[in-house]
Amino acid sequence: MMLLLVFLWLLQDDFAVRRARMVEEDIAGRGIRDPRVLRAMRQVPRHEFVLPEHRTAAYEDHPLPIGHGATISQPFIVAYMSEALRVEPTHKVLEVGTGSGYQAAILSLLSRQVYTIELVPELAENAARRLRRLGYLNVQVRVGDGYKGWPEAAPFDRIMLTAAPDDVPQELLDQLKPGGRLVAPIGKGLNQYLVAVDKKADGSIVRQRLLDVRFVPMVRPRQTGAAH
Ligand code: SAH
Repeated sequence: MMLLLVFLWLLQDDFAVRRARMVEEDIAGRGIRDPRVLRAMRQVPRHEFVLPEHRTAAYEDHPLPIGHGATISQPFIVAYMSEALRVEPTHKVLEVGTGSGYQAAILSLLSRQVYTIELVPELAENAARRLRRLGYLNVQVRVGDGYKGWPEAAPFDRIMLTAAPDDVPQELLDQLKPGGRLVAPIGKGLNQYLVAVDKKADGSIVRQRLLDVRFVPMVRPRQTGAAH
């Protein structure tokens, strides 16, 4: 029993060491500078968000499958998008595509409140349970269609999409505050890129193209579906 406990403790420690190295080499080492983002990436235990068979690969810099055709993004991309979103501690943030809940956990450390929407009920339930267990209590998870946003909680200071629509959905732009920013992967198939969209104080929209990326497509559920 004692030996088992020592073994488990060493394993935890090993994850922390690997996580620190990942942030150093793959995140800070590749140009992410925002100290709050780096701190969040050092803190959130990514191995708790992946399938048991992928735990040992949790701190390698690539995406991993999480079931239902979804993937947890590559750590560098999570950090890059989190930095690009320019989140402040007072902000209310909407995420579309909860998946494992990992990106939501990172956002929860950067903001006041996170609202996150997931189309697949089982992913949403698992993520909600996991986030509660790990103590990320300022995250609300809902099963639903991200194209509709979360009107009851709108407007948001920041919006992040982690599934790719063909273009930025107007309903989500409508739920962004003036002065707000949205970061999303957009495009079809392999031709996706990240876009940062600023809604100016006068309501005008300014778009900026960032990195080329590859996300799972944002699905349009059937109107009669159980979601919502
Ligand atoms: N941010 C997640 C990874 C997201 S993968 C993480 O950190 O683990 C993309 C997710 O978007 C998938 O879970 C997929 O089910 C979900 N998704 C796809 N279309 C959606 C839609 N219309 N509304 C909400 N979620 C959607």
